[in-house]
This record gives sequence, structure tokens and C-alpha cells, in this order.
Amino acid sequence: MFDLIAKDANLPDGRTADIAVKDGLIAAVEPGITAEAGRTIDAAGSLVTPPFIDPHFHMDATLSLGLPRLNRSGTLLEGIALWGELKPMLTADAIVERALRYCDLAVTQGIGAIRTHADISEPRLVTVEALLRVKELIADYIDLQVVAFPQDGYYRAPGGEDAMARAIDMGVDVVGGIPHFERTMADGARSVEALCRIAAEKGLPVDMHCDETDDPLSRHVETLAAETVRFGLQGRVAGSHLTSMHSMDNYYVSKLIPLMAEAGMHAIPNPLINITLQGRHDTYPKRRGMTRVPELMAAGITVSFGHDCVMDPWYSLGNADMLEVAHMAVHVAQMTSPAAMRQAFEAVTVNSARTLGLEGYGLAPGCKADFVVLQARDPVEAIRLKATRLAVVRRGKVIAETPRRVSRLAIDGRPGTVDAARYAPPAA
Ligand SMILES: [Zn+2]
Repeated sequence: MFDLIAKDANLPDGRTADIAVKDGLIAAVEPGITAEAGRTIDAAGSLVTPPFIDPHFHMDATLSLGLPRLNRSGTLLEGIALWGELKPMLTADAIVERALRYCDLAVTQGIGAIRTHADISEPRLVTVEALLRVKELIADYIDLQVVAFPQDGYYRAPGGEDAMARAIDMGVDVVGGIPHFERTMADGARSVEALCRIAAEKGLPVDMHCDETDDPLSRHVETLAAETVRFGLQGRVAGSHLTSMHSMDNYYVSKLIPLMAEAGMHAIPNPLINITLQGRHDTYPKRRGMTRVPELMAAGITVSFGHDCVMDPWYSLGNADMLEVAHMAVHVAQMTSPAAMRQAFEAVTVNSARTLGLEGYGLAPGCKADFVVLQARDPVEAIRLKATRLAVVRRGKVIAETPRRVSRLAIDGRPGTVDAARYAPPAA
């Protein structure tokens, strides 16, 4: 007797199987399981995937759109300035309330874990206090990691070093940074060194906003790779954004990417935000700004895509939809081959789980019984349709459901209903 069985599931690797769950764990993944179960979901050939994982988000700012005003230019710098206006007015309770509301949405979209940055340039550290509280409140349905993020600069903002130390004492999970926002290239490099040293001493991973700029001469990615090796942090360091790499000289990048691979660095581009905020000083041609995703993947570097922002000072759109994130990446990086589109799907699922170091993630016996049933047959169709999440399962319990999206059509001589998930050729 199982707690739950999902029948006739298409798995991301192309197999078809039933998934049986017992005591919050996946007990069996095989065709034709006949045992009884407390609940049965008929996936009927729909894709069943482990949950979406968002490796880069700003939960302290989400849903603050319009507070205290809208971003008129839509630029990164006005966004940072606007966030600076809002920060003194923030309360922990208000941040918690907005974050919980966002997480309700994220669950319905099949997100199972989020790494959020918490801005520690706000001297009261209400952001850290609030997000650590949120982490406990949502533990039953979303795994949250909190990064101490010195938005206004570790050295550039007064009290940055002290704030990092206090945030670590409060219990953050990850050390952040923003070297390109320090006053000089030298200060930026110094901050990377100092923050990697702290991470090594405290046994914490690192995830820095690194070179979120169009400057082809910015060199903080290289510094981060070198300090990762120097402090023995291989496999525990992520570079978020890395947009300078889009604009760098090709010869230089041919040296940089192997250095990143050697350091076991993880790369976290944020396609929706990178395509929106980068290239703002360009007329035409206008750079896309996203880092070199196919080349990083080809070098064996784990690349995971983040959502970054939803309805905040930097981005007024967003819907907690990691398939929308993957969809944008496919376009911006021209990852349109069938294999590349599958890689884009992996970048919002297995790759981001690896970046966050999640244990028990996946659809194999013994893994946590966390999965999502999608109104799509395979990962490519899921990205194409930004497919409806029919059921979201966490530790073997259905925690969110959305009805299948089927439109009624009232045109003489045509079918009465249309289901967009029935349009792909059978062998796609
Ligand atoms: Zn960010």
C-alpha cells in the first residue's frame, strides 16, 4: 500500500513509468505498478518533473512594485536608487507578508526551492531577520536559502564588513558580494578575496552578483575563480549574472571559461533580467547581455537560470514561472536545437538543485517525493507552452492543483475544444 501513485508519467529523460510514494519518499519508478495507493494521480502521458528550483531571487524586494514609486527609466541604477529610497521604510513584518504571498504563487508554479539574496546594506538588517523567519514559516513547502548580499557594496557602503559579520551570526546560509559595484576594480577584487576568506572560515558557500555589467574589461569573474581555488572552495561558489562575459574579448574568454571549470564554479544567469537591464548604454546594435550559456555548459560548468526579480524596483513583470525563465534563455542564447532546449529545462531543475546543493532531489527511488505534473508531454513542450502545473506534490502530498487548460471553441465545423498541449507532432 503506497501513499500516492502517479500513473503513466512521462519522465524528463523520455521514459514512461508510474511513480509510487511512501512516507514522503519515492518508493518505486517503474511501468505498471498495480499496488493500492491512498491517492492516485492519472498523469496520462503528461510530463512529471522534479520541482523547479530558483537559484537566484530577491525575496526582500518582491511584490514591492510601486513602493514608494515606479522605476521611470527601467534601468538597473534607478532600480538600486529606488530600492535605496524604500529601504529605510521597510519593516520585517511587511517583508514577511510579501514574501509569503510570493511563495503561495511560487508553489502553484511548482517551485520547490529558492535561493534568495537578502540586502544587508540596510543597517537594521530587517531583510535578514524577515527572510530567516520566512525560511522557517515555509519549510514545509519550499526550501529557502538566504544569501547575505551587500547591495550597496561590501567596502563602498559604510558598515558593510560589520553587517556581513552580523548577518552570518544571525544564520544566513550563503556569503554574497557585488564586486563590480565597489568604487574601483581594485576594491572589487579585494572584496572578492575578503568574502571568499570569510566563507572558507565559516564553512559557507559563496554566491556573488559578479560583473553584472556590460564592461568587457571587468575582471571579477576571473578573480572569483582564482580565489575559489586559493581558499579550497571548489564546487561551493556560484557567480550570478556574469554579464560582462557577453561583451568580453573572445580570446580572453577562451582562457576564462577553463579557469571557471577548474574552480568548479557554478554560473547563474538571469535571462529575464539580463536581457532587460543590460545593453542600456548601447544604441544599435544593442547587446543582449546574458553570459555565454552554451559555451559554459560545453565546458562542463553547471549553469542554472534564476528568476531574480518579480514585481520589484528592477522588474515590474514576472510570475514565479521558471518555464518563462527557461523560455527567455532559449531565445536570448539561441538555444533552439532539441538538445539545447532540454539543457534549458535542466537549468531550472536539476542544475539549479546541484547549485543549491539540495539532497534527495530527483525522480529515483529514495529521493524526496517532490514532483510536478505538467500539461505537456516533454520538456520542450513544457517550455513552449509555459505549461500549466496540473499538480504539485511535496513529500508525497498534493499541495497545489490547477485545472487543465482547455478552451471551448464556438465555430461551426471546427472542434468544440482546443488543448494547446495536443499540437506537437507525436514524435517530437
Ligand atoms: Zn540579483
